[in-house]
Amino acid sequence: MIRLRGSSLPGEIEALSGQRVFDCNQCAKCTAGCPMSFAMDIQPNQMIRLVQLGQADRLLRSKAIWLCSSCETCAARCPMSVSVAEVVDALRQLSRERGMADRSTGAPQFHQAFLDSVARHGRAHELEAIGVYKAKTRRFFDDIGLGIRMFRQGKLSLLPHRIQDRDVIRRIIRQSSGSSKT
Ligand code: SF4
Ligand code: SF4
Repeated sequence: MIRLRGSSLPGEIEALSGQRVFDCNQCAKCTAGCPMSFAMDIQPNQMIRLVQLGQADRLLRSKAIWLCSSCETCAARCPMSVSVAEVVDALRQLSRERGMADRSTGAPQFHQAFLDSVARHGRAHELEAIGVYKAKTRRFFDDIGLGIRMFRQGKLSLLPHRIQDRDVIRRIIRQSSGSSKT
């Protein structure tokens, strides 16, 4: 078992996510509406149950937390106003901090490349994020056809568009995602 930072896993997740995980009554409406549940090794309602039970190892090493698309359908459907999406964000943060992220999906690397790009420019520079992701995962030729089509259609710009108050964005990212890298 891993050691938790300070309090229990449920307390830590509630503090990070602002969600009241013990309000969940396991109705599974979140799972029924989740567009990514077919690919998840732990279903959205099961994630909340495992948080309640303090099962940090299973959760922080799972693929499911990296397959969530943050679409918020679960939050919209929940009769108890629990947002699984917010809980997943907190789980990702702990997973990265503790070096437990499942990198086999490539999602943690993409997540970090995207956040680094936003921190650098104030908004995402897609071409840069994709390049860093490809270098980290060595998946150089996956989706190359799609990338070329997007570039031809002007959806990937060569140069980043920078905003003025980039320090504010960097502070927000540091506070919300921790400083550790995947
Ligand atoms: S919809 Fe809400 S109450 Fe129902 S299982 Fe999901 S998180 Fe729990
Ligand atoms: S936010 Fe994540 S867990 Fe919630 S419905 Fe969307 S993909 Fe599923």
